[in-house]
Amino acid sequence: MTDLSEKMHKPETVCIFGTGDFGHSLGLRLLQSGYNVVYGSRGPKNSLLLPKGSKVMTHAEAACEARVVFVAVQREHYGFLSSLASDLEGKVLVDVSNNLRRGLYPESNAEYLSRLVPGATVVKAFNTISAWALQSGGLDANRQVLLCGDRSDAKQQLMDIAQSLGFTAVDRGSLWAAADLEDLPLQLFPLWRLPLNIAICLTAFIFFYTLTRDVIYERVNNGKDIAFRIMVSLANKAFPIVSLVMLSFCYLPGALAGFLQLYNGTKYRRFPDWLDRWMLCRKQLGLLALAFGFLHVLYTLVIPIRYYVRYRINVYTISLVTFNKTYEFDNMAAWRYDSYYSMGILGFGLFVLLGITSLPSVSNSLNWREFRFVQSKLGYITLLLCTAHTFLYGWDRFLKPSSYRWWMPPAYMLSLVVPCVVLILKLILITPCVDSKVTRIRQGWERQGKTSANGRDTKTNQPLMA
Ligand code: NAP
Repeated sequence: MTDLSEKMHKPETVCIFGTGDFGHSLGLRLLQSGYNVVYGSRGPKNSLLLPKGSKVMTHAEAACEARVVFVAVQREHYGFLSSLASDLEGKVLVDVSNNLRRGLYPESNAEYLSRLVPGATVVKAFNTISAWALQSGGLDANRQVLLCGDRSDAKQQLMDIAQSLGFTAVDRGSLWAAADLEDLPLQLFPLWRLPLNIAICLTAFIFFYTLTRDVIYERVNNGKDIAFRIMVSLANKAFPIVSLVMLSFCYLPGALAGFLQLYNGTKYRRFPDWLDRWMLCRKQLGLLALAFGFLHVLYTLVIPIRYYVRYRINVYTISLVTFNKTYEFDNMAAWRYDSYYSMGILGFGLFVLLGITSLPSVSNSLNWREFRFVQSKLGYITLLLCTAHTFLYGWDRFLKPSSYRWWMPPAYMLSLVVPCVVLILKLILITPCVDSKVTRIRQGWERQGKTSANGRDTKTNQPLMA
């Protein structure tokens, strides 16, 4: 009993090669979590600034002290490890290294390490955690430790260590995945790049379009300077348009994929790369669309306190009084404006709900069916409400020739093109005869005579001739 409890409470010793920034922070965190730490260093006598409680010795001596050895050394200095091959026999070697750029070496650093020390089991881990995050124990940074390796017992040891350090370990498979893990810290918001570019281009286009149609047209044709409208009016035209178009961009690839599957007669044919990439960044497109929607709401809220609006109301009221006129109540206008606001409020409310359910903490609590219900069904309803909101905003303006300045239609009309296309495509997809076909295809049915995933005729199983 005493033996067992002594064994259970005996702190495990972990070895770290390298006393640099990463090694130092990792050692400190390990000590705080109850581990013994020994450093392997080129100059044990010179390493004075190491965490209190740790020991420092030569690489060979340190390796003998522990079963797990973290290699906190840059890859270009790994050469010395081959001379320690016999000391590292049977140990778990943890490769924490990153590269300065992609494709710098033909093989991953972890695979290289495994080749240098074939008698050890290499696990790639902790490379996505910074020295700073280690010191703060993951309190104000990413808490996920991604790891990969060929032996599950070695990975389990690393998972236990990561967990006791306050991190969540995520197994990313065999050592073959190490190259991907090494690429991760080099990426800068990869999934946000396309949505951000779309948002910037759309905003710039709509802004210059409305600038030309509203401000420059007035200046050239009527000699009026209304450039002050750039700040609120034009911004509040661009933001809702970008928001609506980007929301429809979230649903367009799904609809296109449905038609592509119908055309191919199978789900076992890969989508084109551009469609795959588009589908992968739908969440980011939606979140950016929501951000633009928020801006639209904020800009709309300040309308009543704008100087220009107050001035126009005052002038109008005074003119009514001066000329003794009454302002007739227009029942149709009341209906129109109330419906316009109502659609906007409901659409925005659902839009916020979509944003909330896309947060990992919320989506993790939903099952796949619930998640699809919110993101697909409620998503389409959101798109429908926001499109109706825009239709009600424009009302019959598209019929008036004065709305077309320099042959340019009002910007709201442009914003309706993509949402209407998406809604029409969806309407076709949910008609019973099309829907049943798509459902069958998605359940694995294949049309006879079409190429299957392996490029063979599904009827004869013969390769198709070019
Ligand atoms: P560092 O501050 O430059 O420290 C590297 C250590 O490696 C040195 O302190 C030195 O320790 C040892 N070393 C240097 N030249 C050597 C040689 N020729 N032979 C043997 N050992 C040598 O680097 P670091 O920031 O700690 O990074 C270490 C590793 O962690 C790198 O692979 C890096 O990619 C990875 N990493 C770092 C961070 C971070 O935030 N810093 C985050 C993730 C991953 P001794 O003098 O004691 O031998």
